Amino acid sequence: MTPPDTTRKPNFIRAIIEDDLKTNKYGGRIYTRFPPEPNGYLHIGHAKSICLNFGLAQDYRGLCNLRFDDTNPSKEEKEYVDSIKEDVRWLGFDWDDREYYASDYFAQLHEYALRLIKKGKAYVDDLSADEIREYRGTLTKPGKESPYRERSVEENLDLFKRMRRGEFEDGSRVLRAKIDMAAPNLNMRDPVMYRILHAHHHRSGDAWCIYPTYDFAHGQSDSIEGITHSICTLEFEDHRPLYDWFIEELGIYHSQQIEFARLNLAYTVMSKRMLLELVEGGYVSGWDDPRMPTISGLRRRGYTPESIRDFCERIGVAKKESMVDIALLDHCLREDLNKRAPRVMAVLHPLKVVLINYPEDKVEELEAINNPEDPGAGTRTVPFSRVLYIEQDDFQEDPPQKFYRLAPGREVRLRYAYFITCMDVVKDQKTGEILELHCTYDPETRGGDSPDGRRVMATLHWVSAAHSLQAEIRLYDHFFTAANPTEEKEGLDFKAYLNPNSLETLTNCRVEPSLKDATPGSRYQFERLGYFCVDTGDSSLETLVFNRTATLRDTWAKIQKAGEGSSKKIPEKKNGRDAMPFGRQAIEPIGEEITIEDFSKIDLRVGIIREAGPVEGAKKLVRLMVDIGEGRLRQIFAGISSAYPDPGKLIGKKVIVVANLKPRKMSFGISEGMVLSGGDLDRLCITTFDGNPLPGDKVS
Ligand code: ATP
Ligand code: MG
Repeated sequence: MTPPDTTRKPNFIRAIIEDDLKTNKYGGRIYTRFPPEPNGYLHIGHAKSICLNFGLAQDYRGLCNLRFDDTNPSKEEKEYVDSIKEDVRWLGFDWDDREYYASDYFAQLHEYALRLIKKGKAYVDDLSADEIREYRGTLTKPGKESPYRERSVEENLDLFKRMRRGEFEDGSRVLRAKIDMAAPNLNMRDPVMYRILHAHHHRSGDAWCIYPTYDFAHGQSDSIEGITHSICTLEFEDHRPLYDWFIEELGIYHSQQIEFARLNLAYTVMSKRMLLELVEGGYVSGWDDPRMPTISGLRRRGYTPESIRDFCERIGVAKKESMVDIALLDHCLREDLNKRAPRVMAVLHPLKVVLINYPEDKVEELEAINNPEDPGAGTRTVPFSRVLYIEQDDFQEDPPQKFYRLAPGREVRLRYAYFITCMDVVKDQKTGEILELHCTYDPETRGGDSPDGRRVMATLHWVSAAHSLQAEIRLYDHFFTAANPTEEKEGLDFKAYLNPNSLETLTNCRVEPSLKDATPGSRYQFERLGYFCVDTGDSSLETLVFNRTATLRDTWAKIQKAGEGSSKKIPEKKNGRDAMPFGRQAIEPIGEEITIEDFSKIDLRVGIIREAGPVEGAKKLVRLMVDIGEGRLRQIFAGISSAYPDPGKLIGKKVIVVANLKPRKMSFGISEGMVLSGGDLDRLCITTFDGNPLPGDKVS
């Protein structure tokens, strides 16, 4: 037998489990379940729960059931059941033959209900739903007992039997637990156990016209299956006393409910109800639209199961709500695909290049490396000829400083091919639009090196015009314009924050011919552009369609965005000396002077806040998880909470991090750096950036 896997990040649930194993609480058994309600497709939040539940079972040699929580007859559909199974399997988890349905327990749950009635612990109530709500009271006001609360056991049994037989209309009666209408926890004020619903159920058909509530079904289902650790999200914390009450009153096997914080992702929504609204309203192409945070959407977009599992592991499991940035998932994707996605060349915005000294009818097959990270991936050939396409962005007629790519008179390398020099720019006489470039190639540089040791500053990707294939390429941006579209202050519906530019479709792209047989779902790195995946919905032999899953870095875009304005085609030097906004008067120093050497010892880096949350026991502090381009996140405690009562708002902000501070041990964890901030000492605001510097960039 293999020992339990304890190499993973520790968390409070693992601690509970390890403790239970030590004390032999369940005879060494670990048994979890993933209990989706089949009323929509799974999203990345569910992935967190799946990875947690199935992952714990794997690591501790236990079992995890897939249980459909299908007690609500009007909503569930088979399509959802099938999609859920597909998604869990795709994520890499297996439930063997343990596919269960809460609806399979209807008879047992009914028997449990009878047991409670006989014990005097449940009664049939004739109050309407509105009256029940009114009688329940509030957090500050105790509830009022129903006039039907003291019915005899016999009367209750009789009425419940007749409810079951279908004698009463929907909503006319309910079965309630008899607990305590004055309980401080509202869930304990005689909660409803059964309601009348003359509705068809996707599995039990018309066998039932009374259906158990979530609260009466969930714990008992756990118990029937012998679940040891019933892990759910924090909103069920207040339901735990009720969960325990039912199990104890029934005297059945007791599973332990444990709550953890749900995953919240910035710039998207994660409620199935809202996602359904987007699907039904035609705001997206379907549940698997690559912009959707659903597992099927992420799959279609090109994310790998490995990257999603890695993401779920990195975000960890905690008791406090926090907000995570999708950029972390992109990071996990790059780490995964960098090692295994084949590199190919594709041009998104083609610019024609004619090599005027290359023979008209000559075609060379040049060798290209499939993946420099994986020597085993081998090589392929790409055709090279007189007419090529390069990326429009890789040429500038009047290149600004720091633009090292192609420009008139300049020589660059074409990847795996030759050095070329731009000799002439051919333009449309009327519009001035650049139609093509005339270049020469140096036959001595085949393969990309010059025998005389001549250096070039840039290597460009390209495709041969005659051999390349046309493709449609879809680029995606944030789904919503607000980090938290459901909690915006303006009082607008979440759909008001849909990003109108979340999808950009390029129909005129060119890809190298080796992609001719690319199968739907296969993933590539387009050199210098990012990771792309063949669309599983719309790609065909006639029209290849690719989705951009994530970008790579682009140092030029970064410099351009940060400094030179946003126009790509007409670079203007707006920041020349003459345009300096203020004169160069001597400024009085306001602190003790230090030398440049002193200052250069401080390593300042651009960081992006990926997670932010409060710190238990330290009111002034905010716990930040900051990406400074190291391939991991740094934990930094910053005394900025008075300026940021809602730390979630900090997610995605670019900050300056002092990166070479010795880590400091604090009672709640290690702080690995400092985030620069300014302002009143009682209300420090972080310093942040305009433009688009990348995590890890030096700040000077
Ligand atoms: P939604 O609010 O999206 O409808 P739900 O909680 O109603 O979600 P269920 O199908 O009941 O959806 O969820 C199945 C399991 O997944 C539950 O255990 C639930 O706690 C968990 N889960 C749902 N959303 C998240 C999330 N964002 N993060 C972590 N776990 C989640
Ligand atoms: Mg639910």
